Amino acid sequence: MEIVDSIEGLAAFKGCGFVPTMGALHEGHFELIRRCARDGLQPLVSIFVNPTQFAPHEDFQRYPRTLEADSRGCQSAGAAAVFVPTVEMVYPRGLAQAQEEAKLLQLPPVASRPQLEDACRPTHFSGVCQVVARLFDLCRPQRAYFGEKDFQQLRVITQMVETSRALAPEARPVDGSFTPQIVPCPTVRDADGLALSSRNRYLRAEERERALGLSRALRRAHEILRPQMNEPVAPAPALAAIIAHAEAAMLEELERHQLHVEYAVVRDADSLEPVQQQNAAQSPAPLRALIAARLGTVRLIDNA
Ligand code: AMP
Repeated sequence: MEIVDSIEGLAAFKGCGFVPTMGALHEGHFELIRRCARDGLQPLVSIFVNPTQFAPHEDFQRYPRTLEADSRGCQSAGAAAVFVPTVEMVYPRGLAQAQEEAKLLQLPPVASRPQLEDACRPTHFSGVCQVVARLFDLCRPQRAYFGEKDFQQLRVITQMVETSRALAPEARPVDGSFTPQIVPCPTVRDADGLALSSRNRYLRAEERERALGLSRALRRAHEILRPQMNEPVAPAPALAAIIAHAEAAMLEELERHQLHVEYAVVRDADSLEPVQQQNAAQSPAPLRALIAARLGTVRLIDNA
């Protein structure tokens, strides 16, 4: 496996399968690499803790950096190369300029849905779109692999690429000839249900137990919504009541685990809009329950 630390070194991986990460890798990331290898593409992993997607009060400085262990893990998972760019390679006009440019980006509509990530982290998706577009242009992948763990991010990137394909070349946030196919990959969990996350290593033993509140809350929402999903579409008021019931159950479960809830909602899985209208003639729209909660200084997200 190659460690690529220059832009020139990327030329050999054009048309690869790309797995962008911020490092502190775990089985969730390794599954993305294995999936890419199974698809018959050369897996190229990037490790870059992107400063433009962190707000000043967030954990950019203390975000875990474990490059040696990450490289070993990538190699075992079958990566062809790990790209470890510097800030200067990603933002050649300088970080201050990049931070200004991020503010000007036109984000896809799914980035700014009420209550979700954007409400809690208003500058986050600008930085994510900025870095992902730049990495796509540098790496020129055929496909890019993203985890459902960050479900809104996955929808944002998918919409960004779809929009980009529809625009004139000069207006594209991502170079049109290399808008990769976005491949969603299921969330990898510990045996007890906790979604793997680089931030889990911040949790003390007692906090890790409380963190199970997220997956338990999602399970309760699933139990309430599942019978609904197998039925013909409910009339709108009935569906609204079932969703309100599921949201209340999630809140109760999260509070039972003494978690500080930022959001716990059920949405249309595609648009991430609140579900208001259902056309009785259509099959039931897929739903997605999404949670963000804080445990002390650690912020956790999950969805199902
Ligand atoms: P990150 O390094 O946290 O920015 O994540 C890099 C990629 O790994 C993103 O596409 C994440 O959605 C994905 N990822 C993180 N955790 C998991 C997980 N538990 N299961 C599946 N994918 C994950």
